[in-house]
Amino acid sequence: MPVYEYEHLGKACPAGSVFEVKQSIHEKSLTRCPQCGQAVKRCLSLTNISSPKTNSELRDLGFTKLIRRDNGVYENVTRREGESRFMERGKPETMPNLSKTIKD
Ligand SMILES: [Zn+2]
Repeated sequence: MPVYEYEHLGKACPAGSVFEVKQSIHEKSLTRCPQCGQAVKRCLSLTNISSPKTNSELRDLGFTKLIRRDNGVYENVTRREGESRFMERGKPETMPNLSKTIKD
């Protein structure tokens, strides 16, 4: 089942400001946090959108695409020279160098 990220519209609660919920694609998105009952919205992330573009097309367009591989671990499938393949949450040295990817 896909994992969706939800963000509190108000204050964070013990579940965190952003939390993840496993849901079937047939289930409706949550409108309330299951822990505190506050209004939440579903975050859009690239991993939930089926894109017709291939990874190399995305890279050529200057995009960075991350695929979730584990809790807090993302694979950078559009990595360029010098970028690490896996990005881990909380480890800035594994983040892609976004300044390199900006084009005018
Ligand atoms: Zn909450």
